[in-house]
Amino acid sequence: MYKGTDASAGIGIGKAVIVEEKELVIQRETIIDSAAEIQRFKGALETSMEQTRILAEDLATRVGEKEAEILNGHIMLLSDPMMTGEIESMIQKDLVNSEFAIENVCTMYADMFASMGDELMQQRATDMRDIKTRMQKVLMGVESVDIASLPEGTVLLAKDLTPSMTAGINPANVTGIVTELGGRTSHSAILARALEIPAVVALSGILEAVKNGDMLVLDGSDGTVLVNPEDEALAEYQGKRAAFLKEKKELEKYIGKPSVTKDGVTVELAANIGKPEDVDKVLQYDGEGVGLFRTEFLFMDRNAMPTEEEQFEAYRKVAIAMNGKPVIIRTLDIGGDKEIPYMGLEKDENPFLGYRAVRFCLDRKDDVYRPQLRALLRASAFGNIKIMIPLVTCIDEYRAVKALVEEIKGELDEKGINYNPDIQLGIMVETAAASLIADIFAREADFFSIGTNDLTQYTMSVDRGNDKISYLYSTFNPAVLRSIKRIITCAREAGIMVGMCGEAASDPMMIPLLLAFGLNEFSMSPSAILRARKMITEYNTEDLQAIADQAMSFTTTAEVENYMREFINS
Ligand code: PEP
Ligand code: MG
Repeated sequence: MYKGTDASAGIGIGKAVIVEEKELVIQRETIIDSAAEIQRFKGALETSMEQTRILAEDLATRVGEKEAEILNGHIMLLSDPMMTGEIESMIQKDLVNSEFAIENVCTMYADMFASMGDELMQQRATDMRDIKTRMQKVLMGVESVDIASLPEGTVLLAKDLTPSMTAGINPANVTGIVTELGGRTSHSAILARALEIPAVVALSGILEAVKNGDMLVLDGSDGTVLVNPEDEALAEYQGKRAAFLKEKKELEKYIGKPSVTKDGVTVELAANIGKPEDVDKVLQYDGEGVGLFRTEFLFMDRNAMPTEEEQFEAYRKVAIAMNGKPVIIRTLDIGGDKEIPYMGLEKDENPFLGYRAVRFCLDRKDDVYRPQLRALLRASAFGNIKIMIPLVTCIDEYRAVKALVEEIKGELDEKGINYNPDIQLGIMVETAAASLIADIFAREADFFSIGTNDLTQYTMSVDRGNDKISYLYSTFNPAVLRSIKRIITCAREAGIMVGMCGEAASDPMMIPLLLAFGLNEFSMSPSAILRARKMITEYNTEDLQAIADQAMSFTTTAEVENYMREFINS
């Protein structure tokens, strides 16, 4: 069994077809007539643009305008006068062939993009190499691999897939994609998801292990790949595949339906996101809001902090896309397991108990916190943005952030800049301290969101990433359950909204308990929303009270888990 990165959900079963782009051998040749060579280059450039345009149009009709944007981006790169000018001047000055000049100039740009570190620039480097090869193939008369006419039931294997290769795939014939390179957010992974083809990426060494025609099974939900599996394993995955497709189809009927229990209790099913682009999935799966925007992702994979303007654009984009639905944006939560090298944080002895999240932000008001809060306030004029503070442990922290927000509001007023004056300021309840004084917090905070990932870690004193002690890490531990129940009760008594954005919010065994406790909002990964909605519509909260009482009466985690497992299976 091989394990790569899960890039597009679903099970793919079929025969391996290894797609190898032949390495083009680019020779330096001396030419005599540079004007004629430049004409040759211009011809190839035109043809490449035309080819890309046709691919983009085809993709726009087959998949969608948004997906075609990637190829339209290639056309923009091809028409960049700076790049084409440099190629032409190299041909003229050095008297070299077009293939060689393209190789030099495009590689120089690609390397430059790649060295910038952030993910967007990495993608631009891939795009640059893609267009380089396309132009060279036109010049050299090399046909591209004909991906569009692969036989039915193909699992496509490649070192990496360029966006133009992925775009040419016919989903009727390709049942899965496995690549050695790439990541969950590479363009080819995004396209695989848009085409709804199961995909596993970043699986190094897989090309060595597979021959053309081998039977392959891949699970795009957990990154598993099996090569020539035994009959038993094959049957198991065929079953999983059928179940996946059946469930997917069935869940579609919950799009547009209210998230309401049998006895009429309406809850909000929201989504967790990390980048503005994730909003597409939230809308696709009918999320009723964003319950957690982890803004630290805007700060990762780059060499410098995003400016106030960049942040403003990102927050505004989400607010507009959600069109008045609530968007809870969490202020920077770094430290612990999330490092950002350029922030200059020293290694703490105990990172999870250290200088992180709101503690760090309040210490770095001028260069970090003010710009973020100002960006959030400005973006609040464009939708229903709420601000959420992570890792709060005492009311002083809440008050300090509140005072800062009020100060910034005053500055915006002076400059006549719009914002929502009634913007809500809430907290993540994810520390034992915050849970114990939830009644105090509920008097001042506008809302709560329970972060069970950390609440479990801090309640149980278990590092959430340490395998050796993971047996202690369970939200079903009576201590954690009591904490959750208490937080919800305090919020309800004070009349404020209480949600949950930790992983437990989408756990089928936890949902009945949360409904019984009175949770208002459940926030989870977008693809989990419809399943949660289906469950919620099948319950009656009054019946669930007895179940919750019984679950709360147990003394061990195992008893609670067994009881809840039996309940949901019954
Ligand atoms: C949590 O702690 O439950 C949470 C949602 O935040 P994160 O996983 O980002 O720490
Ligand atoms: Mg947390």
